[in-house]
Amino acid sequence: MRPERSAGPGGRPPRTLPDPPHIDWPALRAAATAVASRAYAPYSGLRVGAAGQTSDGRVLVGCNVENASFGLTLCAECGLVSALHAAGPGNERTGLAAVAVVAGDGEPLLPCGRCRQLLLEAGGGRLLVDTADGPVELKALLPAAFTTTELAQRREPQPPQPEPPQETR
Ligand SMILES: [Zn+2]
Repeated sequence: MRPERSAGPGGRPPRTLPDPPHIDWPALRAAATAVASRAYAPYSGLRVGAAGQTSDGRVLVGCNVENASFGLTLCAECGLVSALHAAGPGNERTGLAAVAVVAGDGEPLLPCGRCRQLLLEAGGGRLLVDTADGPVELKALLPAAFTTTELAQRREPQPPQPEPPQETR
């Protein structure tokens, strides 16, 4: 663990953050490749696996799940982010720190546009994403991202909501 920081303003207790995680990229790619073999991809024939390491060192995985309607297809990163939330409440210690996405042959794939946005809320702009040329920060892959800041600034006031109908027996 990193040495504790001195007390902050107002005498609040110092926060202790975990050391920046060591990312074993070959192991992360191997985990992504393994889960890619369990993908459900009968339509595209492209099995995809995603493996993410959280800031506290856990490795989570997801694979793509296609659907005959195509529009309902889930990317591997969707499964990964779902696994992240299913594993417990998220915070800055448990968000994703690194992600590897690979095809069934184990070679890196870049996340699609939707998944870049999805990963942004699971790991932030400094999330490391594996590429064929080495890890890059997500913010380089998703510049000028839409975030909760824009949402809060542009949200219109909501009109009062009608009372829900009373249940009758
Ligand atoms: Zn995607």
